[in-house]
Amino acid sequence: MSHKAMKPEDDIASQISKIDAKIRKCTLCRLHENRTNAVPGTGKTIDLDLMIVGEGPGRNEDAAGKPFVGAGGRVLDSMLREAGLERSEVYITNIVKCRPPENRKPLDDETEICTSHYLENQIELLKPKLICTLGATALKYFTDETNMAKNHGRLLKSKNGLVIFSTYHPAAVFRSNSLRQVLQEDIKKIPSVLKELTENSKQKLLP
Ligand code: SF4
Repeated sequence: MSHKAMKPEDDIASQISKIDAKIRKCTLCRLHENRTNAVPGTGKTIDLDLMIVGEGPGRNEDAAGKPFVGAGGRVLDSMLREAGLERSEVYITNIVKCRPPENRKPLDDETEICTSHYLENQIELLKPKLICTLGATALKYFTDETNMAKNHGRLLKSKNGLVIFSTYHPAAVFRSNSLRQVLQEDIKKIPSVLKELTENSKQKLLP
């Protein structure tokens, strides 16, 4: 019986599915104890330009097993669309894949265990041109920066050389209407940032 050779893109999709399956069964940190569903990530896996990384699943995401499906997700979708991007064109995931109790911030050990087992592998496989971080937890994980006001809407280099575009978490718009505008303006910059990254070497663009 002959087998067709596996195309590289099928291989990436199948490896991402294997990571998803491991995440759904994972018990490596305490966050598995209260989850309904782990939330591995969703989106495009071939020729990926943009990966979006938030903090962790909330109540709706925990119930659905999918990232950004609640009110914050609807804000994100509409802002992406306004910028000419569809969710199907990006890959969306979080720093931790299980919901922290009462939506608290992930603790350092939870972040370390989860990212070293899963997010790092997702990035390695998907090789996004640009990673957009949503909120302070994701910004800090990639860059050690903690000042959102100073670092939103600009390109940064991660600790291991990835290109990061930082903005606020969509949930922030429910606390402050002025942040809604800031977030929208930031997200609108992404297509031109991607175009520049395609046309120029990243060294030219990074600070
Ligand atoms: S948060 Fe990450 S490391 Fe912790 S149990 Fe969930 S998948 Fe595993």
